[in-house]
Amino acid sequence: MARDCLTVVVAARNEAEALPALHPRLRAVLVQLEALDWRVIYVDDGSLDATWEVMQRLAEEDRRVGVLRLSRNFGKEAALTAGLDLVAPHSAVLILDADGQDPPELIPQFVAAWREGYDNVFGTRVERDGETWLKRFSAHGFYRVIGRLSKTPIPADTGDFRLLSPRVQQALKQLRERHRFMKGLFGWVGYGQRAIPYHREARIAGRSNFSAWKLWNFALEGITSFSTAPLRAATYLGLLVAALAFIYAVMIVVRALWHGDPVAGWPSMMTVVLFLGGTQLIALGMIGEYLGRLYDEAKQRPLYLIDQWNPASEGVSSGPTEATGASHAHGEAVAGRQDR
Ligand code: UDP
Ligand code: MG
Repeated sequence: MARDCLTVVVAARNEAEALPALHPRLRAVLVQLEALDWRVIYVDDGSLDATWEVMQRLAEEDRRVGVLRLSRNFGKEAALTAGLDLVAPHSAVLILDADGQDPPELIPQFVAAWREGYDNVFGTRVERDGETWLKRFSAHGFYRVIGRLSKTPIPADTGDFRLLSPRVQQALKQLRERHRFMKGLFGWVGYGQRAIPYHREARIAGRSNFSAWKLWNFALEGITSFSTAPLRAATYLGLLVAALAFIYAVMIVVRALWHGDPVAGWPSMMTVVLFLGGTQLIALGMIGEYLGRLYDEAKQRPLYLIDQWNPASEGVSSGPTEATGASHAHGEAVAGRQDR
């Protein structure tokens, strides 16, 4: 039987404490899998602590580890994209959080589902440890809202913990949009999907990189990236307000003709003006949100810049992608590859 290839991609920002605990766990799981040619890519997403040094040490000790350092912090989604771009074309890829919240011990289940023929195997959280009530509640709400608004199916309670077959990985490389809402992109690709329920553990060490405010913006990002429903909602709101205003106008005329009421002046006028002004600003803000996105896309900047890339010296044999990556000299900034 031909050996399957699997590359584990881990994006990390300020995870110097978590990585040394994660790697032995990951390795122990991977070496046990039969007929599997594996390796790991650690991506340092502009960490401020010793994460890069820790990664380099791991790569020295383990020849199956490749390490990539971005020129600054580009965010988890861009860091994952950078890692995915370096995966050999014939290899499947597994995405894992650096903090141990996605237990590596589940990888055999993912691999088994992939070997059964599923292309897109994802972990669905049935329970979360170490997260606040507010975070669980808002996460729950977010997945329900986006599930209804988005035309692309986005499975609920599903993070980035997943295994993608080589063809899904290749398909993802074609989606080069700048606002990368990965959960949506994975859903967009389609192919045979399989959910693996799991218990999301608390972090091994360090603290979460996502504050409530960041998560809120991330939610807006997801909704505006995968749905234009807010624009339509603005249209309906406009229609509703116009209809109400029309009814009110008719009422005023009728009352003035029949009862000779003096037209009620200042307060009602102010209310209507302010209400209209408010709804117009909301609608304008929504349009601006989408226009801003268009602006970012139009700039066509690379999604990330590589500072350093040291591929694994063993494991999945090098694809053409790696050859280009490896040729970059130490410290030299190079543009993230763009496939279009
Ligand atoms: N991460 C990253 N870049 C960032 C923020 C986070 O690569 O700008 C990584 C982080 O190191 C971790 C994963 O993304 O491996 C998930 O982040 P975190 O655990 O902070 O988020 P949470 O699990 O609390 O939602
Ligand atoms: Mg985490």
